[in-house]
Amino acid sequence: MPDLRFDGRVAVVTGAGRGLGREYALLLASRGAKVVVNDVGGGLGGDGRDDRPAADVVREIRAAGGHAVVSTDSVTTVAGGRAIIGAALDNFGRLDILIHNAGNVRRSPLAQMSYHDFDAVLDVHLRGAFHVVREAFPQMCSNDYGRIVLTSSIGGLYGNHDVANYGVAKAGIIGLSNVAAIEGAPSNVKCNVIVPAAVTRMAEGLDTSAYPPMGADLVAPAVGWLAHEHCSITGEMLVAIAGRIARAYIAETPGVYRPSWTIEDVETHAAQIRDTAGSVMFPAAPDGHAEHIRYSFGMAARGVTHG
Ligand code: NAD
Repeated sequence: MPDLRFDGRVAVVTGAGRGLGREYALLLASRGAKVVVNDVGGGLGGDGRDDRPAADVVREIRAAGGHAVVSTDSVTTVAGGRAIIGAALDNFGRLDILIHNAGNVRRSPLAQMSYHDFDAVLDVHLRGAFHVVREAFPQMCSNDYGRIVLTSSIGGLYGNHDVANYGVAKAGIIGLSNVAAIEGAPSNVKCNVIVPAAVTRMAEGLDTSAYPPMGADLVAPAVGWLAHEHCSITGEMLVAIAGRIARAYIAETPGVYRPSWTIEDVETHAAQIRDTAGSVMFPAAPDGHAEHIRYSFGMAARGVTHG
């Protein structure tokens, strides 16, 4: 297969000064994309600013013959989202790819999590996603082309200790992606979620000595494909961890239909309600919402007790 390239494409990558985002920016630029390298350069918790990480990545891209510009605006504000997307339009005249990857972490047990830390994490991951998607989406729809990649986490899919803020934000990303996929479908705007894992500074404090090779370079190709014209999926989630790329998806058990229920009926049928055999999926795009309702109404109409 010939190399999948991005010549003529313009990409915005948030949080591209370090870690995973840096790897995505370098990969896309090395394949011909013009890249807005956005990063506030703050600490792991999101405090502080440093222009150098984004500037260093831009220098690296240019030294290799690529095209990139620095953006140090924060994704946490409406004005920041506007300026980040504006950097693509002002410098390169278009926008084809948006990868929202910026992230921060503030850990504490749920019982002690401060309201400030809850908001500070939602502001970067989730509201940040809305700020850049909200600005990029109309541009992409009017161009009849767009590729959006939003970043979730196994913390968003499965939860974890001490990260209620992060888990909420990363689960919320999936909801935003589904809507962008549904509303973008008529305009060839595809939106998918990456569920990455790599040893970056986010792994600070963890014992990674027994981990298999887990560099950001093992994640970037999955994001590259989701960002490419060839990407054939939308409203989906790809996992990339330690060399394993997989699809994560939401499924439902067939369930149990009865014309009426009591609490005791639910207890009696709990095993069958929860039985995953024959599970069904309702992919978000084009109309998982309606498929879900049709399936459920179908059981009621047919009076079948088990799907
Ligand atoms: P990282 O800390 O190395 O990089 C994140 C970058 O985002 C930093 O350079 C930071 O300055 C930037 N950033 C933070 N707040 C910002 C803001 N308001 N505006 C613009 N930029 C901002 O972390 P990473 O491991 O590369 O993580 C990248 C993404 O992947 C994050 O969304 C993270 O939650 C997600 N993720 C990472 C892992 C992992 O194993 N590393 C696992 C699951 C999800």
